[in-house]
Amino acid sequence: MSELEDRPHILILGGNFAGLACAQNIRKQVGDKARITVIDQKSYLLFVPNIPADVFEGRDPAQNQRMDLVPVLDKDDIAFIHGEVTAIDVDRRRVTFTPAERDGAEPETKAYDYLVIALGARLAYDRIEGFAEYGHTVSDLYHGQKLAEYLKNDYAGGPIAIGSARFHQGDGAKGLEPYPGGSIPDAMAACEGPPVEVMLSMATWLKNHDKGGPDKITVFTPAELIAEDAGEDVVKQLLDIASGMGFNYWNKTQDIKRLTAEGIDFADGRHLPCELKIIFPDWVAHDFLKDLPISDSQGFIKTDLLMRNPDYPEIFACGDCAAVTMPKLGAIGHQESEIVGLQIGKIFGTVSAEKADKPLKPEVLCIGDMGDKKAFWIHSNSWFGGDQQLLKMGRAPYFLKMRYRDMFFASHGKMPGWGLDAAELIVEGI
Ligand SMILES: Cc1cc2nc3c(=O)[nH]c(=O)nc-3n(C[C@H](O)[C@H](O)[C@H](O)COP(=O)(O)OP(=O)(O)OC[C@H]3O[C@@H](n4cnc5c(N)ncnc54)[C@H](O)[C@@H]3O)c2cc1C
Repeated sequence: MSELEDRPHILILGGNFAGLACAQNIRKQVGDKARITVIDQKSYLLFVPNIPADVFEGRDPAQNQRMDLVPVLDKDDIAFIHGEVTAIDVDRRRVTFTPAERDGAEPETKAYDYLVIALGARLAYDRIEGFAEYGHTVSDLYHGQKLAEYLKNDYAGGPIAIGSARFHQGDGAKGLEPYPGGSIPDAMAACEGPPVEVMLSMATWLKNHDKGGPDKITVFTPAELIAEDAGEDVVKQLLDIASGMGFNYWNKTQDIKRLTAEGIDFADGRHLPCELKIIFPDWVAHDFLKDLPISDSQGFIKTDLLMRNPDYPEIFACGDCAAVTMPKLGAIGHQESEIVGLQIGKIFGTVSAEKADKPLKPEVLCIGDMGDKKAFWIHSNSWFGGDQQLLKMGRAPYFLKMRYRDMFFASHGKMPGWGLDAAELIVEGI
């Protein structure tokens, strides 16, 4: 074996926001001291947050929101396997996967010295009765295109419902204290920035197509308060603005029981009559992660606030698959990926403990499209015990949302360190 092949092997499962950022941060911190491999079942990064804006502004997200992973990883000497991961043997330090380019491939295994799990979650539309026949969403290219077609050809001008099914959070982040006296709270919805964003951009679409106003739209949540991770003051401001505009709001629906042609039946017994149903489902852990000794009661990966599993310290998790990532936001995965890079740098002796051992202090940073080239900006940590809650609306956040994607693709995911500071300066005026 050559010296280069003899280097420790860092295996990263998943190559979207969290996986790509971890791979790049680890390479940055350890230099050529490790072999790094990413496995993903698709060979491109899908820029999920900008799909809704494309749908409502008449662009095809399939043309705009994909970045080829292979050349991007190759620049940093990171190997890529196009495969579907099917099992992790945490005691033998092996991962089983099936090469995904052609049907019929044999299961293969890969050994690791360090493992980073960044596999996201299953968006469980298949658990919502009636979704296939009557539901719409914007969380991937297929569904985004299906909704765009519906709006163009089939929408009859009826009432619209937008909201989330119940999220089933595991117990993997219990007892963690990201801010003094704070916690990673329990949530009834996985990620409610998108329903708020879609509600506002849907209203702009209705206006621009002479199909009515916000009073046609009902936004609903299983929780007491929609988007509670944004902080109570921010949500109150948002709800005041929304009710002033005429939107309808239903809370405490508990869960979606079924979708029918006529509307939505909720678990609390209420029925919401509507023509168009735009739904965000339960974020569910992948089946093969359930019941592993590294997983929590729902299959999300347990870590401390340094993103390291307490029982298997050679295993890290990052992004939506990690139990501490609440809400399921790419921005929080991004913060975590920097910690993973530094922690692995510490293990390899290239980063000092003082620099590496800075635990996660999650911050919700969400830019949501509102249509008409406007967006809202939420920057908050109060849900976790911090003291920040900020809401801004206008053209500057929209400009940043669009430029962020451009800059992300142009820099191949390596956002310059000053990117976020500059964004804060522009929007928050600090
Ligand atoms: C409509 C919408 C709008 C959003 N807007 C925002 C926003 O404005 N800001 C924000 O911060 N967040 C936003 N989010 C959330 C954000 O998209 C997610 O938090 C982010 O994508 C999570 O990144 P991840 O890498 O952890 O997981 P994912 O993006 O889900 O990536 C997981 C990767 O793992 C791969 N994978 C999964 N299973 C396997 C397997 N078995 N084998 C091999 N590969 C596998 C997948 O192919 C994928 O590439 C939005 C979400 C939605 C749905």
